[in-house]
Amino acid sequence: MPGIDTAQLLLFDDQSAASPQSSSLSAPQGVTWNLWHGCTKFSEGCRNCYVFRRDRKIGVDSRNIYKTRSFALPVLRNRAGEYKYPAGTLFAACFSSDFLHPQCDLWREEAWAMMRSRRDCRFLFLTKRIERFMDCLPADWGAGWDHVAVGATCETQEIADFRLPIFKDCPIRHKIIIHEPLLSAMDVSAFLDHTIEEVVAGGESGPNARPCRWEWFTALRDQCVRAGVPFTFKQTGAVFVKDGKTYRIPRRLQHSQARRAGL
Ligand code: SF4
Repeated sequence: MPGIDTAQLLLFDDQSAASPQSSSLSAPQGVTWNLWHGCTKFSEGCRNCYVFRRDRKIGVDSRNIYKTRSFALPVLRNRAGEYKYPAGTLFAACFSSDFLHPQCDLWREEAWAMMRSRRDCRFLFLTKRIERFMDCLPADWGAGWDHVAVGATCETQEIADFRLPIFKDCPIRHKIIIHEPLLSAMDVSAFLDHTIEEVVAGGESGPNARPCRWEWFTALRDQCVRAGVPFTFKQTGAVFVKDGKTYRIPRRLQHSQARRAGL
């Protein structure tokens, strides 16, 4: 690719600037709960979706959405009759689909039931379909379940301007805003207040990744600092532009490079 700096490994090389390992909900140390697999593309950030990319390599059509064998993961029990996953486990749901995908409406009630029965655990899901949230809730959701966190993904300013007002009105106890893949400069300061627990941003991965720019991340960080909202620069993405140079960052370094940026 023209203009790529081959000295990419030196983008952020100052160990002393490294921020501590994130404890954010968006980078959970918990258990991935891919209760269904597959999706359909409908948003700008879906263009180079890693689910489609990985499935294509093994000849699978990601548009065929199915319940996985992990569907009942949170309620699995061992031979002693105890839950396999103990109290306090964080289940990060639906990282190979979208929890609010319309083709999964029939299965979601069972998913809510599992979450309802494991109030001793925490659950997190991210969605690009936050406009469906109110139509997908269980009857007893009320003002939100305290053990369930939801992340609304917004890849561009235009998308943020559409989704964040909806997200703001959703009854959710724990809200995070996800800008991943970050595809444009963002001003989301109008939506940052005490109801947002974290903002997370990252670039796009994969061979066709679109570039993201250093100043997009610093601007978001500054908006978060002003609003008192924690900000996490999660990963650089594959193509990163800083100080007029374009860097291609290998996948294995995208998270560590973001940590070293010290934002
Ligand atoms: S919503 Fe998520 S999983 Fe679905 S196509 Fe878009 S990026 Fe992929």
